[in-house]
Amino acid sequence: MSEKKHIAILGSTGSIGTQALEVIEANSDQFVVEVLTAMNSANLLIEQAQKFKPNVVVIGNEALYDQLFNALDSHDIKVYAGADALASVVEMDSIDMVLTALVGYAGLKPTIKAIESGKHIALANKETLVVAGELITHLAKEKGVNIYPVDSEHSAIFQCLVGEFHNPIEKIILTASGGPFRGKTRADLANAKKEQALKHPNWDMGAKITIDSASLMNKGLEVIEAKWLFGLSMDQIEVIVHPQSIIHSIVQFEDGSMKAQMGLPDMKLPIQYALGYPNRLKSNFPRFNFLDYPSLTFEQPDTETFRNLALSFEAMRKGGNMPCILNAANEIAVSKFLKDEVGFLEMSDLVEHCMKKTSFIQKPTYEDYVLTDTETREIANAYNI
Ligand code: MN
Repeated sequence: MSEKKHIAILGSTGSIGTQALEVIEANSDQFVVEVLTAMNSANLLIEQAQKFKPNVVVIGNEALYDQLFNALDSHDIKVYAGADALASVVEMDSIDMVLTALVGYAGLKPTIKAIESGKHIALANKETLVVAGELITHLAKEKGVNIYPVDSEHSAIFQCLVGEFHNPIEKIILTASGGPFRGKTRADLANAKKEQALKHPNWDMGAKITIDSASLMNKGLEVIEAKWLFGLSMDQIEVIVHPQSIIHSIVQFEDGSMKAQMGLPDMKLPIQYALGYPNRLKSNFPRFNFLDYPSLTFEQPDTETFRNLALSFEAMRKGGNMPCILNAANEIAVSKFLKDEVGFLEMSDLVEHCMKKTSFIQKPTYEDYVLTDTETREIANAYNI
């Protein structure tokens, strides 16, 4: 039996983090949990730590340190708190792979630290590549670090490319479910509420990504993520709406042949593939049956109603810090929508406003991204609908 892989999970109490722990539990002959981190969910983090007995746990919110420390006192587990500990815990020698399951811009610094210390990445935090794709991919290359996609579409592309890495890609087609508002008009969505937006038809996910799916921003972010993961130009990436979410994405090669990866929508599969790569680990996930889905359908995305997808392509075309601006503006837009402070369609207005107003930088450094994120959030917060 070979050595087990030692995994650090950043964001272990979220949707991806908890599913990753299910995968690890079912494959305890393959994986050991080395580090667990969370921002605020102390109770769940304690429960996870007691069960999986990691070497280290980190809570982002320092006010929760005592609660965590006391609860884990009788275990041989090191407890840390605060932003610096969250970012630097990935440097531990005992970690083989870091699963970045944090939400949003918060994932950027820990991901950079992990790559700098030579850890392979299972990337569930797409915003990191959206914000600083060029920086991250250069750094990964320099350090000889592999980035394994956890996002289901990108996992699909990656799986289609196995054995094809020397064959150029002609284009990729990312599938989108269309979310709960597929087929709706702008008039229909003028008064759309968060309760409706949070009801995704196929995927069970965290609140931020579920809103992003309803607004198609998730697909916009994924287009930019794909550009960096697979070294593609903008005109090599297409999006098609596929409401059943069975085909997870498609690669078209230069001979015209297409490969697609398919299966029931279940995030545990791409998580397990990223953790277990290059091996396919046996699972008992429900199997797809064609007879249950006699028709798989496809539609053009409606970028007039769901403007975020068009804005994402525009941000990618402009390059520089524009995708970072898009991301920061969207994080504020989603949090305002979840607080009933902006309407569903106004989220795109806010993103567009920030893309016009925030200082553009063609060749940003890491420090520039930090400043851009801060500036964009200020502009977004000052924006009155
Ligand atoms: Mn996805």
